[in-house]
Amino acid sequence: MSSLPPSSSADIPKLAAGLHDPLMARINQLLDKGFPWMRFPGALEQQFLLDVAEARRRHFVISSVIALLIYNGFLVADYLMARDVFWLAVEIRILFFTPLALLFIYLIQTRNGAFIHSLPTASLEVIVVSGGLIAAGSLAFILSETRTAYAAYYHVGFTVVVLYGNVVQRLRFWYAVVFSTALLGIHLAGIILLGDFPQRLLWPIFSMVLSAVVFSLTANYLMERDERKRYLLTLRERGVVRELTRAHERLQELSRVDALTGLHNRRHFQEYLQQVWERAQYDGSSVSILMVDVDHFKKYNDRYGHPAGDECLSQIARVLQTTLRRPEDLIARYGGEEFIAVLPQTETAYAVAVAERVRVAVEALQMRHESSSASHFVTVSIGVVSCKADFLLKSAALVSAADQALYQAKHEGRNRICVIDTKAVASAN
Ligand code: GH3
Ligand code: MG
Ligand code: MG
Repeated sequence: MSSLPPSSSADIPKLAAGLHDPLMARINQLLDKGFPWMRFPGALEQQFLLDVAEARRRHFVISSVIALLIYNGFLVADYLMARDVFWLAVEIRILFFTPLALLFIYLIQTRNGAFIHSLPTASLEVIVVSGGLIAAGSLAFILSETRTAYAAYYHVGFTVVVLYGNVVQRLRFWYAVVFSTALLGIHLAGIILLGDFPQRLLWPIFSMVLSAVVFSLTANYLMERDERKRYLLTLRERGVVRELTRAHERLQELSRVDALTGLHNRRHFQEYLQQVWERAQYDGSSVSILMVDVDHFKKYNDRYGHPAGDECLSQIARVLQTTLRRPEDLIARYGGEEFIAVLPQTETAYAVAVAERVRVAVEALQMRHESSSASHFVTVSIGVVSCKADFLLKSAALVSAADQALYQAKHEGRNRICVIDTKAVASAN
């Protein structure tokens, strides 16, 4: 026999309250007020970094491969603008930087990123910053070695490195700030170390690199803000769906349970009976129904009061629950002081035995009922029907046959069982 915990509709406001748990409140606040410092409070920041770590790793690998090709493509510019140190450039780009970069790309790509995921979440940012600075350093070194007149113009190449870190790799904002500042430092040091840097080019080239830094940092900030916002929205959506699912399940349960007795209600019974009946139609088994009605209950209420009547119904419900022993049997409150039970795969003899057990158990409760003509105690009458399932018969016919049997039991004096046979059910249909 399946049973659900007693519950009431007073639980519903609590369900709505679930939508305002502390995490949800924090998410809503962040979405409303923003997060100008590009950091979430408390554990949410770490959670964010962990949740996006895999997407970030894949982005790193693709961007790095493309950037490495472009980095080596600059050998053409080296040849055209710093031809005197071209072989040095080949050594730096092909023999030093490329193998180093490939090693890191391999380590980060292999085994689905097991290596990088085993390190702290900021490690990838540190690798990108280091890679970008080594690339910038290698450009600065080439420019410090060349004696060609074009070298000064080649300093605009730093803008490409800035774009790489801030926009292509999309460093986390604060790493992008560190990266950009360091890069400006390398650029300035390069200009100063290059003693014969043309004065008139100083500002134009520096301002170009600086503008690239400002623009790309702005883009970086906006992209990270959008990414974080999307993350918060996804979290909120997941939270709302979770809460709604929970509320839905709870309401489903509430709508299937009778609030007073904690038994299933009529709606649930009807659905269950339908399932049992359809199964029985296929395997040709018998289904029994017990319709239980309290005798002279109106008089009980009149004499002992409505609250006592409620208590009496609860006690009878408990007796019914404990008397029906098989897990597939189901007892429900059918309405008022009527209960109904369905016993799948049950022949008449067993159904009658169960009904008699119920009748005796209720009387044995010895709840005084001075106004009853049937007994000194509260009693029930039970209509029993047992029927071999048949495709021509509807399950509702079984219920009305049980009702007829109950009526008969009342008519014969109450506190008794009355059985209707299968043929009578068929004719009632
Ligand atoms: P009978 O023996 O023929 O069944 O007589 P009865 O008085 O039990 O039947 P009737 O249908 O005339 O009255 C049923 C009563 O059950 C009327 C109603 O006040 C009472 N009742 C129905 N639901 C509840 C309930 O939830 N709590 C209480 N206390 N009484 C209820
Ligand atoms: Mg009744
Ligand atoms: Mg009654």
